[in-house]
Amino acid sequence: MSDASTPPTAPSGATALPLVFDEPRGRRKPPRHLADLTEAERKDLLTELGLQGFRAKQLSNHYFARLVDDPDEMTDLPAAQRAELVAALLPPLMTPLRTMEADKGTTRKTLWRLFDGALVESVLMRYPDRVTMCVSSQAGCGMACPFCATGQGGLQRNMSTAEIVEQVVAGARSLARDEVPGGPARVSNVVFMGMGEPLANYKAVIGAVRRLTDPSPAGLGMSARGVTVSTVGLVPRIRQLTDEGIPVTLALSLHAPDDELRNELVPINTRFSVAETVDAAWDYARVTKRRVSIEYAMMRGINDQAWRADLLGDVLNGYGDWGWVHVNLIPLNPTPGSKWTASDPKDEREFVRRLEAKGIPTTVRDTRGREIDGACGQLAATES
Ligand code: SAH
Repeated sequence: MSDASTPPTAPSGATALPLVFDEPRGRRKPPRHLADLTEAERKDLLTELGLQGFRAKQLSNHYFARLVDDPDEMTDLPAAQRAELVAALLPPLMTPLRTMEADKGTTRKTLWRLFDGALVESVLMRYPDRVTMCVSSQAGCGMACPFCATGQGGLQRNMSTAEIVEQVVAGARSLARDEVPGGPARVSNVVFMGMGEPLANYKAVIGAVRRLTDPSPAGLGMSARGVTVSTVGLVPRIRQLTDEGIPVTLALSLHAPDDELRNELVPINTRFSVAETVDAAWDYARVTKRRVSIEYAMMRGINDQAWRADLLGDVLNGYGDWGWVHVNLIPLNPTPGSKWTASDPKDEREFVRRLEAKGIPTTVRDTRGREIDGACGQLAATES
C-alpha cells in the first residue's frame, strides 16, 4: 500500500473524508436467514412460501439452541420438506477459509469468505471465567484510521444481521462441540471490535444485538451487558443508541484527547470533535447507567506523552467523577509497513499512573493473539 509518490493519509478537511455511512446501491444482497428476522417475521415468511408457520420455531431451535447446522440432524422436520425449510430460513452464509490458534488453542481466529467473496474475520478468546467473541460488522471499513489494518483498504460492504450473528453462533458451536480446550462452554461476551465501524452499519448491528439477546430459542439468550459496541464516535449514532434502550457497553476509540492529534489518528474527528464525541459518550453513560470504556491505542511518541495523559484525565473529569468512564489502554499492534509502534512500557506505566492520579480507572488490555495477527483486519489484509 505504501507508495513513495503519494503521502500517507492526510485528512485535509471535511471534503477529503471517507464518509461512508450507507451501503453502496445495486449490489446482490446476502442470503436471507432466520437470524435477520424477528420470530413473527420468520413465521410470516414460511406462511407466504406455503409452508407451515410453526416450523419457524423448530428451525430457530436448531439454529440458536441446539446449534445444529446439518439438516440431517433436524429430525423433527418432515424429510420431504426439510430441504425447502432449510433453504428458506437457514441458507449457508459463510465458509471458513482459515483458522489460526494461539494461547494453547484458547484463542482462535477465523477468516471467513462471505457469499460474494468478501473476507471478514472473527476471534474467539476463552478465559477461565468467560468466553469473548470479537466480531466484524463490515467487510472493510470506511473510517480510514491510519494505524488500523482494516482502515487501509476502505469499505467493501456492510454485513447483514445474520452474517454478524453467524460469527457468534459458529463460535458457540465449536465451544458446544468441545473443540476449544477447557470443556464445553458458552459464549458469554461479544465485542464489536473486529473489522468495520459498527455504528456505520447501525440497523444490521442493532438487529444482531437483538438476536444475541433475544431469549432462546428466538435468539442466543445472552445478556446485553455482555455485549460491547466499539465506535470511532459517530455522534448522531451514539445518540440514537442511547435512545435504543438496550444496555450494551459502549466503547469509544478516542486515542487522543486533543483535536489536533485525533484529526490525524481518527479522521472522522474532523467532523465530530473530541468535545462533541466525549459529550455523546457521557450522555450514554448518564442515561443508560452503563460505564463507558475509552479505548486508547498507545503509540510510541505519538499519543503517549505524560501531558496527554493529564489532558485525557481532565477531559474525562470535565463530566463528573462518579466513575462514568474507564480507560482501556491498548498496546499498539503495529500493522505491516506502519510508521507507528507500541509505546515503551515505562511510558505506558507513567500514563496509567497519571490517569489513576486523576481518579480514572485504567486498565491495560491484554494482547492475546499477537502471533496470529490479532490486530483488527490483519489476517484478511494478508489474504487479499
Ligand atoms: N471501528 C470500531 C471497532 C473496530 S476496531 C472502532 O474503531 O472502535 C476495535 C479497536 O481496535 C478500536 O479501538 C481500534 O482503534 C483498535 N485498533 C485498530 N487497529 C489497531 C492496532 N493496530 N493496534 C491496536 N489497536 C487497534
